[in-house]
Amino acid sequence: MFYHVKELQFNARVSQPDPRFASMLLEQFGGPNGELKAALQYFVQAFAARQPYPDKYDMLMDIATEEFSHLEIVGATITMLLDGVNGELKNAADGSVLMKFISGGNAQKDQMVHEAMVNPQFLLLSGGGPRVTDSQGTPWSGSYVNANGDLTVDLRSDIAAESRAKIVYEYLMQFTDDPYVKETLGFLMTREISHFQMFSAALDSIQPNFPPGVLQGDPRYTHSYFNLSNGTSARGAWNEGQGPWNAGENWVYIEDPIEHVIQTEGLSNDYPIEGAKVTPEEVEQMNRKLSQQRSQEVTSAVGSGSNQWSSYPQSTMASPKQPQGNGK
Ligand code: MN
Ligand code: MN
Repeated sequence: MFYHVKELQFNARVSQPDPRFASMLLEQFGGPNGELKAALQYFVQAFAARQPYPDKYDMLMDIATEEFSHLEIVGATITMLLDGVNGELKNAADGSVLMKFISGGNAQKDQMVHEAMVNPQFLLLSGGGPRVTDSQGTPWSGSYVNANGDLTVDLRSDIAAESRAKIVYEYLMQFTDDPYVKETLGFLMTREISHFQMFSAALDSIQPNFPPGVLQGDPRYTHSYFNLSNGTSARGAWNEGQGPWNAGENWVYIEDPIEHVIQTEGLSNDYPIEGAKVTPEEVEQMNRKLSQQRSQEVTSAVGSGSNQWSSYPQSTMASPKQPQGNGK
């Protein structure tokens, strides 16, 4: 269950209202790389991890909950940056013009006019608080959430999500001079760096974790690089020498892919395995072994038939093996 603590995780403050920046900051409230996306992504991923991997569940729920705390900080900051908007809008009988409500003079009025043109719903519908949209008014979407029921995949999605959240804060910080707001954004940006490290460490604690998922790649195709453009071609760690995975297979550089595909009849028949460190038989064995192991991890953690999510009190990380209590 959730419990709301009235203190914000970080002391969010603003020096003065700034509707223009409030609108930009909305990107981290309801945008594709924002706090709501992060919170719900880790929250949703946590369900599939709960019974087989209670340690990862615990981490995902802690980080999801921290992201909700960030969402609260961003929402609070947006509201403070719009300070005065709601109060003035409520003053409807007075016929007060939208332009009057910020006491910042002409510059801020101009900003308001500009803002109202770019994303009018932000002010007209929210009445001075955040909306669940990005900075352009696009509604938040569940399609922002990546959850695929496999931790080696999900944790990689999370590392990518943290990278994107981090860079958006970095860009946002260049659009405000408010030292308080900068301080808050610096905190939020830094926490995304910490989460990046947590997810990386969690991924590393699952072995093997490459390739993502269970099935190994076909060793005929795992390490060939197709030179698919004319002119000068770049060579580097991504296409020459030893690759980083599969016990250091060597990259095979296919200089002339058109000729290569014709020669090998579409990489078929007796397509040679060059540079591989594993044989197709070993791959087959690995597939069977890992399938069994991963399947076992999940099925052994979940009883057949009746099941119970948590115990009362929940003193261990894992779910109870059998339903408890005297309920009929
Ligand atoms: Mn965050
Ligand atoms: Mn984060």
